Amino acid sequence: MLITLDKCQLCGSKDFLGLNGIVLKPDKRKANLNLRDEDTGWYMCQACSFIFQNPRLSRAYIEEYYARSDYHEGREISEGQIGHTLIQLARLELFLAMNGINIGATRGATCLDYGCGIGAALNFMAERGNEVWGVELDRHEVEFGRKHYKIKFASTPDEIPKETRFDFIFTHHCLEHVFDPNDFFAYAARALKPGGILMATVPSWRYSNTMNFINGFDISDNSMFDHVSLSGFMNKHGLFQFSHMYQNNDDWELVTLARKSPRKNYYGINHQETLAELYSNVSKRHSERLGEPGVPARDSFIVRM
Ligand SMILES: [Zn+2]
Repeated sequence: MLITLDKCQLCGSKDFLGLNGIVLKPDKRKANLNLRDEDTGWYMCQACSFIFQNPRLSRAYIEEYYARSDYHEGREISEGQIGHTLIQLARLELFLAMNGINIGATRGATCLDYGCGIGAALNFMAERGNEVWGVELDRHEVEFGRKHYKIKFASTPDEIPKETRFDFIFTHHCLEHVFDPNDFFAYAARALKPGGILMATVPSWRYSNTMNFINGFDISDNSMFDHVSLSGFMNKHGLFQFSHMYQNNDDWELVTLARKSPRKNYYGINHQETLAELYSNVSKRHSERLGEPGVPARDSFIVRM
């Protein structure tokens, strides 16, 4: 069930630093899989500062886990989930507009939502004359989506016609879960049209202001991205991250825009600096965090320096 990575998925280095100070608990999903807390841990690559879980659930296990709807623990699609999915892209329209992209007025484009869940996020684009594909493993979410939305579903990119090229690729809180982010970026770089836009959104440890981000991570999450590591994956596959922002969505999330380009993002990758920032972030006292006044600290994570 578990597999141990022997090299960094971003840069290939074998030089990992164990983040023993970050103990996420309790991890209910791990307990449900009869795994102990100490069976997996978080590591930082000392060459590129990418943060990842190791060992982790194997690729085959993860894919079957999502396919049988174990992530959402059941077949029910709640009103909350529908509402949350509907606004995934809509609430980012202003950021897109600031970057010169009018998604609401887009017609005749070919679009992809990677890890689309029920497929509601880009349905408004499907209704406005765009061709929209959604990639999703979860069979029950796809079943619901086929009944309610106009997008075309595929369980993997292999099921999308090979000649399909996209004007817009969107992925929302999906890449932290996949076994290897290189699979997505390799496909996106190949399938994006020249001048097409990739919008990738992930939860990020940087700048988090409540406990929600840390509380949310468990055995189903493999990568803790920030704009540095995400741009590293993009650059590796011929994509240039031309804009990014951190914003509050329950807790801090990173929103990035990329295009096909040989240009590189030259961010600092000093792992000691990244480590110091990570520890400073996760060890903030509760009273220093926003949005939870008067709520006593929970012991859902522990920092030992
Ligand atoms: Zn690395």
